[in-house]
Amino acid sequence: MSSILTEAKVRDRVLAAVDELADEVVDFTAELIRIPTVNPPGEFYEDCARAIGARLEQFGFTVEYHAAEGRPEHTRAHPRVNVVGTLPGARRNPVVHLNGHFDVVPAGDGWTVDPFGGVVRDGRIYGRGSADMKAGIAAAVYAAEAIRRAGVRLTGTVEVSGTVDEESGGYAGMGYLAEMGRIARGRTDAVIIPEPLNVDRICVGHRGVYWFEVTTHGKIAHGSMPFLGESAIEQMGWVLEAIRRELLPVYATRRTEVPVVPDGARHPTLNVNAIHGGQPEGPVQSPCVADRCTAVFDRRFLIEEGFEKTRAEIVELLDGLTTRVPSFRYELNDLMVVEPVLTPPDAPVIGALGEAIAGVLGREATLVASPGTYDHKHVSRIAGIDNCVAYGPGILDLAHQPDEWCAVDDLINATRVLALAILDLVGVESA
Ligand SMILES: [Zn+2]
Repeated sequence: MSSILTEAKVRDRVLAAVDELADEVVDFTAELIRIPTVNPPGEFYEDCARAIGARLEQFGFTVEYHAAEGRPEHTRAHPRVNVVGTLPGARRNPVVHLNGHFDVVPAGDGWTVDPFGGVVRDGRIYGRGSADMKAGIAAAVYAAEAIRRAGVRLTGTVEVSGTVDEESGGYAGMGYLAEMGRIARGRTDAVIIPEPLNVDRICVGHRGVYWFEVTTHGKIAHGSMPFLGESAIEQMGWVLEAIRRELLPVYATRRTEVPVVPDGARHPTLNVNAIHGGQPEGPVQSPCVADRCTAVFDRRFLIEEGFEKTRAEIVELLDGLTTRVPSFRYELNDLMVVEPVLTPPDAPVIGALGEAIAGVLGREATLVASPGTYDHKHVSRIAGIDNCVAYGPGILDLAHQPDEWCAVDDLINATRVLALAILDLVGVESA
């Protein structure tokens, strides 16, 4: 394709094709919402993979299914099945891969519509997973299809995958495809993950994660004479107090250069996910001083902090307590570490999406980074691909909420943007 005029005509034809298939992309989103792929435990994954695979086949893709053989979470009751579709072009490369996770978090309480009904009303598609991220999967599938219906032959390859378990780490999903080399540097040139980051924002990475467990030890005694024992719960109280007084004020002074949203997440954060001390919960208890207390902490660290420093600060805090508090004893157990990722500013996928957003929405794209981790980590860390971002329909804040919804306008605009970005990244052979 040489002339600028021809390129503009191709884009117009593809955008017209998106307009024509708008109802289909909404229906397909609703169809996916009606498959309740709730994680945990990971229900109806195979049904959802097959539904996506069938649609991709209908649209000219070659489809593969990859069950996460060997992963402990891949069980007979809850098989972890991923789907990858390939739409061949004139040549193999460039290969652009669009990946969406089809697992959703449990519905929870507080819904005013059926969370798995696929209700479309007043310009919104409601349901668990509507924004996060079945609309994104539908947008990816139909962006490729709009190009095909416009009669455009692409130079390289478009791949669309639907994967499992992103909400629980993605190790049997995108992590698995990266481990098996299905997505890899040298084979895959660009990856776009249509997570709900708002339709005019490109997400260039995320903060790091350090989950750790602290156990404190006391000495059991009769609950009527606590002075004869040592309460492990009291000991944990010292830990929480030290975090509040010594760590949180320091975290508040640190601010990353990475454009993490919302603004509060520009700083490091520390959440207590769970705490348990003493006897098991239940109606029957006997009077005892707690001899054991365990808490799980979720520390999100900045790329400027790094993991080593982050962990060293926790160890220093706990060791400080052993000298200050008589009889303080603890164990520290690392549960999960995810390094931060950041797409290089000159990555072609940022440029292509930026131009497409400007073309479709008439405004500049904003670069953001995510407060939490998502499948980008597997693309970056395991597959070794830097040219990866998240971009998709839906409002980030609505993810995991009751009455989750995605605006139909967002869905169609994201489909337009993804289609234009594919043209740019994959190349147009003939039209
Ligand atoms: Zn998601």
